[in-house]
Amino acid sequence: MADFQLTTYTDGETQHVAERLATLLKPGDVLTLEGELGAGKTTFAKGLARGLGVKRTVNSPTFTIIKEYDGELPLYHMDVYRLENTDEDIGFDEYFNGDGVCVVEWAHFIEDYLPDAYLTISISCGDNDNRVLAFFPGNDHYQSIAAELNGWW
Ligand code: ADP
Ligand code: MG
Repeated sequence: MADFQLTTYTDGETQHVAERLATLLKPGDVLTLEGELGAGKTTFAKGLARGLGVKRTVNSPTFTIIKEYDGELPLYHMDVYRLENTDEDIGFDEYFNGDGVCVVEWAHFIEDYLPDAYLTISISCGDNDNRVLAFFPGNDHYQSIAAELNGWW
């Protein structure tokens, strides 16, 4: 069961949710994004970047797997779709235990490398541009983040 969920109606709204979430994050926090192609995972990551004060344009890291951005905290944006059915380790540990925030699209493809706890945001498509964002916190730390975010909606 998700801790809570909310519906957005535009990509701007999804970015806004992520932007607010960003203000609650600390170094070493890990977010995983699930949802089909076009659900809005990269859109969410763009909002997160804005919330962390990243000035550069954030694009999908599908081909590079990881992109790093300088913000108030460093942002490590990963898209591990291409690692499906491989056990390639691109040094995940250093990112997950690093001094920045990690956001991972298609994280279940690298399940073995994920840290013990993280916050999963699952995005599902509804009618038109509706998206349901469901939050699954992996421990108390992420639960309090989700609770605070929930309080703003
Ligand atoms: P993913 O990374 O999950 O494949 P993207 O973020 O790249 O998805 O693409 C999502 C697409 O859906 C974008 O074109 C975005 O503008 C559009 N979109 C429409 N409505 C929404 C919404 N409510 N939230 C997020 N994206 C939306
Ligand atoms: Mg994407």
